[in-house]
Amino acid sequence: MSQHVPGGLPDHIQHFIDGRFVDSVDGQTFDVLNPATNQVYIKAAAGRKADIDRAVAAAKRAFGGPWPTLAPRERSRVLHRVADLVEAQDRRLAELETWDTGLPITQALGQARRAAENFRFFADLIVAQRDDTYKVPGRQVNYVNRKPKGVAGLITPWNTPFMLESWKLAPALATGNTVVLKPAEFTPLSASLWAGIFREAGVPDGVFNLVNGFGEEAGDALVKHPGVPLISFTGESRTGQIIYANAAPYLKGLSMELGGKSPAVVFADADLESALDATVFGVFSLNGERCTAGSRILVERPVYDEFVERYAERAKAIVVGEPADPATEVGALVHPEHYDKVMSYVEIGKREARLVAGGGRPEGCPEGNYVAPTVFADVRPEARIFQEEIFGPVVAITPFDGDEEALRLANGVEYGLAAYVWTNDLKRAHTFSQSVDAGMVWLNSNNVRDLRTPFGGVKASGLGHEGGYRSIDFYTDQQAVHIAL
Ligand code: NAD
Repeated sequence: MSQHVPGGLPDHIQHFIDGRFVDSVDGQTFDVLNPATNQVYIKAAAGRKADIDRAVAAAKRAFGGPWPTLAPRERSRVLHRVADLVEAQDRRLAELETWDTGLPITQALGQARRAAENFRFFADLIVAQRDDTYKVPGRQVNYVNRKPKGVAGLITPWNTPFMLESWKLAPALATGNTVVLKPAEFTPLSASLWAGIFREAGVPDGVFNLVNGFGEEAGDALVKHPGVPLISFTGESRTGQIIYANAAPYLKGLSMELGGKSPAVVFADADLESALDATVFGVFSLNGERCTAGSRILVERPVYDEFVERYAERAKAIVVGEPADPATEVGALVHPEHYDKVMSYVEIGKREARLVAGGGRPEGCPEGNYVAPTVFADVRPEARIFQEEIFGPVVAITPFDGDEEALRLANGVEYGLAAYVWTNDLKRAHTFSQSVDAGMVWLNSNNVRDLRTPFGGVKASGLGHEGGYRSIDFYTDQQAVHIAL
């Protein structure tokens, strides 16, 4: 398969500390692979504890001013310029992201635009924001004084890396904090673009710092740095547990966006055509490497056979191919380690359930991390492919009889990130949505976000919520000031 190589790739990927690109203190690097070939295409600086120390020191200095004390309108102007700059280079961004992650180019473009939108949203929110005042007539006026916390530690995963970084950078910076970002080691390319974007937009040196490297070393040093009062983390639930324990001695503020195994529940009275479109998109878009993927589809018995048959047909028609080809719908998984994990679940699934589509490497893709969209039917709730997050283009379909069983199956996993409900019965729609263990529910609709709403999971899917004012709350201290009258 021939591959489009983006022009102008850097020589190597560096850290960005105090307004300058720098290598690691000891000059160490690690290899970064292209997911379509698994060839090393670049080396990235491997951050050490000393690099995190340098970055935190720079961020602390920058927290001395002027960034945290700028008027909200001033910071908002800078953040809108960030959004303008991201929009102006959305195609370039998508091209680099696709090269580094294996995401289909058309979907990477959508993610680049969402990154710009995240900045615009928080730029507007801090200007519109108001804080509470409480009056006790004749006695007291009490008001809330909101203050940025200091140096925010941001640790991000490799799926849609640039967009997910923006989801943390925008509110952290909008509220006046300075930051140290530790992006995922599989996909460090697009993160370094932030440096040029922030500089051009007028973000002062030291406000944004970036340290590349492995989670166990650079990420760990950030979590354990006493000068970093809060960590916003997105990644696997298991990593979240480790970070939670490591942050405990420092009593840090934590926001955790973790894994998922989200159900899409299709009742017999649903608009089947729309449910099929949405559930195919829900697990196969972004290569299935999506935290909110509807990776378990529960279908009511009267429409089950028809649903499975039509679903399998659609899955077989999905175009798997070179990520940079605009016709591609599923690209290459991010890394051979992740490919092996997903393929191991495909083999487990073959022993646990009935394979109705995919089940291996697609034809015409002899190298790279390509997996054919894979559909298992008749999946039992105790099966591993029902219980465990696979994070690839693999879906489990399970039949159910009635609302009660649907709810039991939907809630019968350790995760609780998202749920998708398909029914035309108004009462059932709301009753079911309100009972399901999920931080977010989409009713008769696709995964489209409203940035004002809470984003986050319950159970093993997360701790705390981001989105709208919840992000502002996380990145600020709210001080109560009492005035006697
Ligand atoms: P991961 O947990 O392996 O890594 C995430 C980040 O944590 C990386 O930057 C990594 O280097 C760092 N890290 C690893 N160990 C660390 C440690 N001990 N201390 C500090 N940092 C450490 O996750 P991943 O494989 O990159 O991402 C996929 C996972 O992320 C999936 O489980 C997915 O569901 C989840 N995710 C969740 C959301 C959400 O909003 N809930 C969004 C996207 C992805």
